[in-house]
Amino acid sequence: MRPLIAGNWKMHGTLLEAGALAEGVRAGAAGARAELLVCPPFPYLVPVGGALGADIALGGQDCHAREKGAHTGDVAAAMLQDVGATYVILGHSERRADHGETDAMVRSKAEAALAAGLVPIVCVGESEAQRLAGDAETVVTQQLDGSLPDGFAAAGGVVAYEPVWAIGTGRTPTEAEIAAIHAAIRANLEGRFGTPGGGLRILYGGSVKPGNAKAILALPHVDGALVGGASLAAADFLAIAAGV
Ligand code: 13P
Repeated sequence: MRPLIAGNWKMHGTLLEAGALAEGVRAGAAGARAELLVCPPFPYLVPVGGALGADIALGGQDCHAREKGAHTGDVAAAMLQDVGATYVILGHSERRADHGETDAMVRSKAEAALAAGLVPIVCVGESEAQRLAGDAETVVTQQLDGSLPDGFAAAGGVVAYEPVWAIGTGRTPTEAEIAAIHAAIRANLEGRFGTPGGGLRILYGGSVKPGNAKAILALPHVDGALVGGASLAAADFLAIAAGV
């Protein structure tokens, strides 16, 4: 399957910086083996989508579970689709922490994304305490069971494994630890969805940098990366993509 390298810009940048970053990604993207995806803050979706061009995918960082309505400050999946997004990141640990998003809420949002024709990228991952207690695999499996809607595999949904303690810290699990969790995620997807689960992409996220990307991306069942900080420099993002 074609690897996916996704940049999650989170809540960073100005309009000017977003445009320049998107231009930079576009300028270096020709011939990339990986599919490239950029997820800017909502106000920058339209200009960034224009600057990226047709060969680089655009995504949102969240959507609401409802189709439309009186939900001040929220964004509907159909709105993302309307401005050219094809993906949406859901259940990121920062949203689970900042906005109290539960597995059930993430699942509802993923259903809304599917209804709007978006591919959901559902994030899972254990805290440091859970990892130290030996519970990483159990936590991730429970998050998958609770967060993924039934139509997930048919729509080519993406799972992102992001250990919370590895996000923005410069720390990563060992290669063996990443491989073990990714194998468990694959087994979970195949157990629930059958053969289609074997064809879904499982991304690793958490302190992915040009220096460690190649080794991580070479691990079994690692089908791409969800990149935070390093996606804010076009050269770093492209160097990570060149590692597949
Ligand atoms: P960093 O790459 O900055 O650790 O962030 C990872 C992440 O949360 C991507 O969604």
